[in-house]
Order: sequence, then C-alpha cells, then structure tokens
Amino acid sequence: MGRRNRIPIKTGSEIDAMRIAGGTARDILLTLCDMVKPGVSTLQLDTAAGELMAERDCVSAFLGYRGFPAQTCISVNEEVVHGIGRSDKIIQNGDVVSIDVGVFKNGWVGDNATTVAVGMIAPETRDLLAATEMSLHIALDHAREGEMLGTLCNAVEAHVKPLGYTVVRQFVGHGVGRELHEEPQVPNFGRKGARPRLKAGMILAVEPMVNMGTPRVKILGDDWTVVTHDGQPSAHFEHTVLVTKGEPEILTWREPKFIDLPQKVTMP
Ligand code: MG
Repeated sequence: MGRRNRIPIKTGSEIDAMRIAGGTARDILLTLCDMVKPGVSTLQLDTAAGELMAERDCVSAFLGYRGFPAQTCISVNEEVVHGIGRSDKIIQNGDVVSIDVGVFKNGWVGDNATTVAVGMIAPETRDLLAATEMSLHIALDHAREGEMLGTLCNAVEAHVKPLGYTVVRQFVGHGVGRELHEEPQVPNFGRKGARPRLKAGMILAVEPMVNMGTPRVKILGDDWTVVTHDGQPSAHFEHTVLVTKGEPEILTWREPKFIDLPQKVTMP
C-alpha cells in the first residue's frame, strides 16, 4: 500500500493536547449516559451534548462532517452507528442506546462511544454488549509499539465470532488527531501480523461495531443512520488510544460497564 509513512506520530505537547481532548470527550459521553432514561428523546440527548460542549469550550467533531446534521451520533437497538437525534425517537425500557461523542478541543480530536442498557434488557442483548466491550479492550491491548495493526484489528472479530456475533465491515475505526479521520483505517477484522507496524505516538480510534445477527447493514432515508439488515440489535464501543512502548494509554478512559478487566489496565 505504501501508505504507512502517512500515519501521523504525535509527540510531547501534541500528546498532552490529545489527553485533554480525550478526557473532554469522555466526560461529555459519561454525562450523556447518565441522562439516558425511558421517556427521553434522542434529540434531547443531542441538544444536551451541544450545551455540554459549549460549557467545556469544545465543539462537535461530527457536526457538519460531510454534512452530518447533529452534535453526536445516537443509535438505538438495530441502529448501528450514525443515528441522528430526533424528537420523536423516545427511549424505552429495554432499549440499548449507543452514543458516540467526538469533539475538537483546542484543535485536537477526542472520540469515544459506548452502548447504554436502559432498564431491563434481554439477557442475550446484555451478552452482546459485554462481548463488544471486551473485544474493544482486547484490541486496545495490542496498541503497543512493534505490534502489527492487523493483529489489533483481528482481535475484535476473533473474540466475538466464536460467540456467534458478527462485525460490521463497511464502517471502521481510524487514526485520530488534528482531524477526526486520519490514517490508518482500523477495521474490526483483519489478518494477524498484517502491516503496518505500530509505533509509539500513533493515536487510534478503535471502535468495534458488533451485530447479534447478520453483519449486513443498510442506510436509512436520512442518508446517515446505519441499521442492521435483519433488525437485530447492534453494539458499539469506542476508545481513543495512544500507542506506547509499554502499556497502551487509553485517552478516553472510563470504567468498563459490562465486563471485568484484569487489574493491570489502570489509567489516571
Ligand atoms: Mg470514531
């Protein structure tokens, strides 16, 4: 491909700026998660996101991106990603709500997402969320200098496939930094050992999108909302991670919700 030289390497103050952007995106995401309740519309969440961003002196990295019309992506149940907040989309008990928050803070992007369980959800849906969150953390553990990107990408599908789930193939994670989408692409599948080789200072948005049923998706008439082809639920978890020579540094760190991690993964 010859593109591996174009993966930006961040150093010093750039990494510090990405830590701040990541922490800001994380704080806003967690505040929005606390607002997810039966009876709340997805537009209310998106409007609140805009207010939180203003309070935190940052702006949405999604609003206006290729014409995207909202502050955040809010995707409910069979919606995979890129859902647009709507006043007539009312959250119900038993829903799963994926919220994706990306912000520009001082010119740098923090990007993260999680799927929230509303009240009592079906046990098989909870299992899907746990598997997806686990696949994210298994993949993140490969964000170390010298590892191959293909191995990181492979880890997502390798975890969820034996459990009977599928990964979406049309949408992928990405490098992140000055821009929302930088090199490289970070699919949720790949060949173990495939190049490029990761280097300290690369920053990746790793974001498993895992479906209960078919991996096939379609896009709704709003030109954005991605839904599963079979109407079964989908889960989406994302972190921005800094590749290091030691432990990966998750710049959007939050406590996992559906899984227990080995204690070695600790962050400030
Ligand atoms: Mg992303």
